[in-house]
Amino acid sequence: MAEMIVNGERVSAASGATAEVRNPSTGAVVDTVPLAGAEDTRRAIAAAQSAFAAWSALSGARRGQLLIRASQNVRAHLDEVAGLLTDEQGKPIRDAHIEAERFADNIELYAGLVTAGAPHGKHVPLPTRRAMGLVVRRPLGVVGAIIPWNFPLTLLANKIAPAMAVGNTVVAKPASTTPLATLRVAELMLEAGLPPGVLNVVTGPGGVVGEELISNPLVRKIGFTGETSTGIQVARRAADDLKHVTLELGGSDAAIVCDDADLDVAARGISIGRFFNAGQACLAIKRVFVFEAMADELVERLAARASRLKLGDGHDPRTQMGPLHSARQRTEIEEQLADAIEWGGRVVAGGQRPTGEQFANGHYFEPTIVVDVPEGARVWREETFGPLLPIMRVRDLDEAIQRANDTEFGLGSSIFTRDLAKAQRAIDELEAGYTWVNAVQIVEDELPFGGTKHSGYGKEHGTEVLDYYTEQKSVVMAGI
Ligand code: NAD
Repeated sequence: MAEMIVNGERVSAASGATAEVRNPSTGAVVDTVPLAGAEDTRRAIAAAQSAFAAWSALSGARRGQLLIRASQNVRAHLDEVAGLLTDEQGKPIRDAHIEAERFADNIELYAGLVTAGAPHGKHVPLPTRRAMGLVVRRPLGVVGAIIPWNFPLTLLANKIAPAMAVGNTVVAKPASTTPLATLRVAELMLEAGLPPGVLNVVTGPGGVVGEELISNPLVRKIGFTGETSTGIQVARRAADDLKHVTLELGGSDAAIVCDDADLDVAARGISIGRFFNAGQACLAIKRVFVFEAMADELVERLAARASRLKLGDGHDPRTQMGPLHSARQRTEIEEQLADAIEWGGRVVAGGQRPTGEQFANGHYFEPTIVVDVPEGARVWREETFGPLLPIMRVRDLDEAIQRANDTEFGLGSSIFTRDLAKAQRAIDELEAGYTWVNAVQIVEDELPFGGTKHSGYGKEHGTEVLDYYTEQKSVVMAGI
């Protein structure tokens, strides 16, 4: 049985309760984890609070050194960590490997930045004679990191790397269905010398562990990634204690394909953008708007690509797309597809659960493309969190941008064109935290990432994230 990490120790839940973690490809039990309650969470918060004074007092260079040593121990166990991620999440092993590696990259990036002195304060000349103005930055204290199941390690690193690097301590709560890789990386970091209490991991339900993190006054910041509806609840509850909050929520990213687009580039990009991680990505392409002149050709190419994708168990190295993460996730996609068909939509690829013995116990669904779906259908209004892509024909860029923005979400967006003027308009007018030109989903740690509208607020990545894990204090030094 896996155990939680609290104050540098591996612990069970005080109640002794446990929960099973199942493999989405086979339904088999992978392992069991403690099912924590509020008391366990409070213990972890207290450990993080005790560790804060010493951790935040270390120089940035020393924290950086400890974090790099910790991440190198994760690198030394990449195969094992990636294997756990595939077991619990269902994603292809190659993608799990990249995710585990990027976890270490992210830790090292922020370790490097603080080693080099970030986040910098500043000196501000003041009009008052012989007085000097300074802005100094301080860590916030205990940070609660609440993580969903689609990219358990990436989304964990996005929070804990900057948080710990600048001197905060953390209590992380992975999704109930994907705790194993998280527990293992935390354990590896501790074994490599990360001080006890700096990183704690508590496994249990969002309504219990998450709720305690949000309401406990010792926690000063919540970094949350998940559904918009949960994020709104988190923001409401956190407001009672005026906690700092970063919310990375749902998305319904549009890709616009203009009449001058390179169709090879567009079809390849959109196919990866939609079907990577079985479509379960916040930044997945969830709606396509294509100029009339290119529509037939694009649909044909995307349908051909979708039909060629190899489905299977994530551990099979030939697998390009794994199962959906849960039965609930698959049902939701099936219901959204049925609704699109009811509205008159035509399925041009996929649309079914694949048949065959190897798919019998997993939550598989074929990569699916649907056309001629009128606006009003659920696929245009809701987030589709699975391998289902609606494509709509548009007259021109005006209509494409208007439709792309006609959503409550504002996370990512893409445009495929060779015309700089069209690209410029998309950059200016698409309501989103990211716009890619002739690309999709290139998310590097170096650029700030975060949504607008109901996709959330606050930034992860870049040096900008450091603003969200520190507070600024103004200082006036007056001459005597
Ligand atoms: P979810 O909101 O159901 O759960 C996310 C986390 O919140 C889990 O750890 C869960 O246990 C916890 N939680 C649930 N209820 C809670 C509560 N009342 N208080 C505190 N914590 C609670 O989301 P999910 O289904 O795990 O993830 C998929 C969603 O996440 C999609 O909408 C996706 O777009 C979004 N997402 C966003 C980003 C981004 O960066 N914007 C990245 C990945 C996923």
